[in-house]
Amino acid sequence: QESDILGFTRIRRVAPIAVNTHGGRAKCLQRLIRLDLPVPETVALSFDAVHRLAEGQSFDKKSLLRVFGEAPLLSVRPSSEDPDWGGPGAILNIGMNDARHAELTQTHGPDAADQLYLRFVQSYAVHVERLDPELFEFDTDMPVGEALKAALDAHEDETGEGFPQDPAHQLGQVLRSMARAWEGTTARLLRQAKGAPADAGLGLIVQAMSLGLGPGESGAGVIQLVDPGTGAPQVKGRYKRQAQGREALSAPTGAAADEVMYLTRDARGTSLEEAQPKIFETLVEMSRLCRTRLREEMQVEFTIAGGKLAILDAVRVPRSSRAALRIAVQLAEDGIIPREEAILRVPARSLTELLHQQVDPSGKREVIAKGIAASPGGAMGRIVFNSTVAQSYEARGEPCILVRRETTPEDIRGMHSSVGILTERGGVTSHAAVIARGMGVPCVVGASIRINIREKTLELADGRKLEEGEVLTLDGSAGEALLGAAKMLPPVKDHWYLQLMDWADGIRDIGVRANADTPMDAAMARDFKAQGIGLCRTEHMFFEGDRLTVMREMIFAAKQEDRMEAIARLLPMQRSDFIELFRIMEGLPVCIRLFDPPLHEFLPSTREGAKELAEALDLPLSDVTRRIEWLSEFNPMLGMRGVRLGITFPEIYAMQARAIFEATIEASKHGDPVVPEIMIPLVSAQREVELVKTQIDAVAAAVRNETGANFTYRLGVMVETPRAALRAGDIAQNAAFLSFGTNDLTQMAYGLSRDDAGRFMNAYVQQGVFPEDPFHMLDFEGVGELLKIGAERGRAARPDLTVAVCGEHGGNPESIAFCRAAGFDYVSCSPFRVPVARLAAAQLVV
Ligand code: PEP
Ligand code: MG
Repeated sequence: QESDILGFTRIRRVAPIAVNTHGGRAKCLQRLIRLDLPVPETVALSFDAVHRLAEGQSFDKKSLLRVFGEAPLLSVRPSSEDPDWGGPGAILNIGMNDARHAELTQTHGPDAADQLYLRFVQSYAVHVERLDPELFEFDTDMPVGEALKAALDAHEDETGEGFPQDPAHQLGQVLRSMARAWEGTTARLLRQAKGAPADAGLGLIVQAMSLGLGPGESGAGVIQLVDPGTGAPQVKGRYKRQAQGREALSAPTGAAADEVMYLTRDARGTSLEEAQPKIFETLVEMSRLCRTRLREEMQVEFTIAGGKLAILDAVRVPRSSRAALRIAVQLAEDGIIPREEAILRVPARSLTELLHQQVDPSGKREVIAKGIAASPGGAMGRIVFNSTVAQSYEARGEPCILVRRETTPEDIRGMHSSVGILTERGGVTSHAAVIARGMGVPCVVGASIRINIREKTLELADGRKLEEGEVLTLDGSAGEALLGAAKMLPPVKDHWYLQLMDWADGIRDIGVRANADTPMDAAMARDFKAQGIGLCRTEHMFFEGDRLTVMREMIFAAKQEDRMEAIARLLPMQRSDFIELFRIMEGLPVCIRLFDPPLHEFLPSTREGAKELAEALDLPLSDVTRRIEWLSEFNPMLGMRGVRLGITFPEIYAMQARAIFEATIEASKHGDPVVPEIMIPLVSAQREVELVKTQIDAVAAAVRNETGANFTYRLGVMVETPRAALRAGDIAQNAAFLSFGTNDLTQMAYGLSRDDAGRFMNAYVQQGVFPEDPFHMLDFEGVGELLKIGAERGRAARPDLTVAVCGEHGGNPESIAFCRAAGFDYVSCSPFRVPVARLAAAQLVV
């Protein structure tokens, strides 16, 4: 006894159809019907109904069939909540049987009738009855009539029965098999991988067929109004005569001459536009209506049956990131969606992709190594294994990719000379990753390679070896290295991008600054419309050119006066750095962090380097190696760096403060007065701040005295140790601002080395120990708690305190949301991530 089941609804203008009960396709079809488009009769089965079908509940198929009138042909298509979650393939021509075949032979001709029957037998046998597909495949040159007969015979051979003739039975079987396919394990795992919940439902759509086969102009196709790659307005699509469903999309070009393959005018052959201008015009108008009323660029699926147009379906035009941005802005410019919605429609992260050259995803790619995607974009060049060779490549104008086990400050020049960086070790905040992101150079770290520096080879996981000079492509967005030169896409910074960013800036309420160390970075920061520099890592200025030598002289100075002499020579260099930064950033705040790294980083790490240095300084090699040993630490990350160095060798910070103040006076002569911000790194105790503040105030007083010029400055503290966050109340008494350095804070909160964590991070994330790499995504629960405590305690002690983040997390949309909720004033990130941060911040307001 068949019991009726609830839940099939004829789609009408007013019918209770919703995305979360009947799926996206059902809802979209209802919208098309409301636009009065010629949509054939359509019935939607709810998630609930489909679920019951899968469980074997029977229902009254005859009453469902009756909706479609006398002897209809039907299609069934899936309708999941999110189209990305997939679903079983469509089944067409349900209702074909011997009687229908005989009728259609009269009305549509034997060829069309044979085709329709054959196709149905094929898909029913394979997808519903699960018979071997090979039995139902025939050569394309076999006459259709013969193929049909062979298919019916094969069916009989396999099942021992004739092909089912009852349309109600056919429909019932199709619906049930599609419902079951959705509940199968493979399908469930596949959609869960795409983010679908475990209990995601499937709706089904039953629709009357409009036959694209038969007399007169008959065929099927798709049409859209934009180019999917660029988003530029352009009528695009496919059309095929004597075809059904989405067949036109997969049909090989150059098929039979009487089957028009082009939708729009095309030099290669006839087109629907020329052959049927009226139908074409109507289609374009209908597509325009869809765009305006569905407020989205749609791809419309249509059939022409004997000259009569039917609209079967419409889906969001699949698009590249670049096209997505242009489409959103264009829709807002045309008044179809509000600006706020355009802002929301562009995923903030997709901007990084647009602002870098990219490896073309449609090109050929031979992946030879996988690692961590440390800095986005694509780069192609020849492999080099050290900085000297990189510089010589650059001098010759030949792009190269620097391949290192890991990078150290000594590699800076080589990194600047390379178009991409690949390392064997390291994680997202390793030296290579941070510097590369700052420079906007694609970088992959922790890659599955083995480097042999002496042999100058790079060994791949499969044992193959690459030598210096071989061509490699880096995909820093995917974290992959590809063999040879891959196809590239250029960066985009067009009207649509600028417009969107302008709208975003108009509504966001948290500041975005850039981390920038050099004039080049600063120029980039301005270009990306950062509201100032949030972190200038001054130590990066000491690795440049002849400064390294002077720096080393300072380190080697045995007597106080020798040290002072070297420092006096560093002063004008630092001063000119700052003058340049202040000029470039004119009118905007510049936050300069006093010297941070341990001194041994300025000394060579190899014996050869030590020998060169001994020659340069005219010292015995033993002196040099002894000094290197003396300075080297067991755990430099927790050793004499940051303010510890500043307190042990106060003359270094004094020199930097003087350089900053003198540059302030100089830069203020030519433009707006500069108010520099000076930041003390790696603080853990209030007394450290007091000592440094006293010293810097004294330098300021001295400079004012000497020059007669007046200036102000703001002194702040970088919160990078858990203790500084906990003691933020005391610390804020001597600080105008607190800027959280979440790289070190994460490292110290977890006790996780930022340079070594890459080795086990994958295992940790895969096994769910960490939901994500905490150097990548701020750990809200632990490190985030320290941020909140620090901000609260700091503000309680000093209500006008500025609070910011300047670690790598500053450019991460989720972390920005966290900081905004915690009341932070601004975030600071590498220049290339500034646009992402600006857009992400705006999206939080909408
Ligand atoms: C930090 O620790 O978060 C930071 C910004 O400083 P650095 O990365 O230079 O240690
Ligand atoms: Mg730090």
